[in-house]
Amino acid sequence: MDPASADHAHLWHPFTQQRGWVGEQPLVIERAEGTDLIDVHGRRYIDGVSSLWCNVHGHRHPRLDAAVRAQLDRVAHTTMLGLSHPPGIELARRLVELAPGGLQRVFYSDSGSTAVEIALKMAFQFWQQQADAAARRRIRFVALREAYHGDTVGSVSLGGIDLFHSLYRPLLFDALRAEPGDAADLERILTSHGDEVAAVVVEPLVQGAAGMLIHPPGYLRSVRELCDRHGALLIVDEVATGFGRTGRMFACEHENVTPDFLCLAKGLTGGYLPLAATLTTERVYEGFLGEFEELRAFFHGHTYTGNPLACAAALATLEVFEEERTLEHVAELDALLDEILEPVAALSAVGEVRRRGLMCGIELTGFPLGWRMGHRVTLEARRRGAVVRPLGDVVILMPPLAIGASELRRLVDTVREAIVAATDEVALAAAA
Ligand SMILES: *Cc1c(COP(=O)(O)O)cnc(C)c1O
Repeated sequence: MDPASADHAHLWHPFTQQRGWVGEQPLVIERAEGTDLIDVHGRRYIDGVSSLWCNVHGHRHPRLDAAVRAQLDRVAHTTMLGLSHPPGIELARRLVELAPGGLQRVFYSDSGSTAVEIALKMAFQFWQQQADAAARRRIRFVALREAYHGDTVGSVSLGGIDLFHSLYRPLLFDALRAEPGDAADLERILTSHGDEVAAVVVEPLVQGAAGMLIHPPGYLRSVRELCDRHGALLIVDEVATGFGRTGRMFACEHENVTPDFLCLAKGLTGGYLPLAATLTTERVYEGFLGEFEELRAFFHGHTYTGNPLACAAALATLEVFEEERTLEHVAELDALLDEILEPVAALSAVGEVRRRGLMCGIELTGFPLGWRMGHRVTLEARRRGAVVRPLGDVVILMPPLAIGASELRRLVDTVREAIVAATDEVALAAAA
């Protein structure tokens, strides 16, 4: 059986209506090089969404490849339950060094969803272990409308995207919902519920899965201040924004904020291997200390927690940030994008272009859901040699940070041509 038929026969893809999937030829990627993906027929495509928002320095980067191979010659996997290992130890030290001051402890897991799940369970248990009975009443969470924090049940409870989350409501705990970017709304919620709130959870600056929803400047700072005033912990989900996507290593740095929990995944290994980290403060950590029989340990862990190969890839990723001055390169691309996105924003099918750093959403307007305009644009882009993936009718552009200026121009041009082709085709069909 050829790979395409075997895919159709046996695979079930994430976030995919399989009835539509089996009606199209799948693009089967066999190899990659830098910012190009290469399919089984040898055709090349620019990786316009960093292989789902995680690739940083490009594919098959010699430094990352060598780091994973070197670790493979030592050990591929051991465990963090009862044992430790050098790449896990060294990576924790490096992450603490890089993260906003005050985040001293690193708890590993393997996806963005688990990084957030861990933060919310830690925050909950932290309050349950307080001597003060009033503190133990802090059992609720505040999350933003249109939030996305992953697909496990706890993370889905915090999620606010109806399309993904509303069906599961009966299964979930109830979060208090704040309006994104509106500090006054959060203040209102905390004023009436402040002493029940364990933590406020936010994606900083940009709500990615909401379609690149951008918060106004100063919002994150206000969220931190409101949490402090009402005694709530702050969980910042930097799974998408972390590792340079917004122009700084972490989005929190733009507003000088130290959260109580920092959730990292996606770009942590440069897009090589599944690894996540939940960073927290000494204050939270100390809330779990006690005699064995007090049972204050954090009873949570995954088999592949802190996998050594993944930690080695993460350490190399952080080194390459310095060697290649990645953040300076992103600043150059940021300026370039201002210029090259103008002709895209000018298209009549485009309602708005939203962007922070290398996180960009191009919103198409005026098309009924059933037309799947975002998807049509994706197919047109693919024909022209670029892989992008939409969120509904928002076309997402989020290339690897290492993309060159000319490739970035080519990617944006391709997407512009794809939008023109897809919307023309629909206009013609409507006229016929
Ligand atoms: C992708 C994402 C997650 C979930 O990460 P997974 O590794 O897919 O589980 C969580 N939060 C944000 C902000 C994300 O973008």
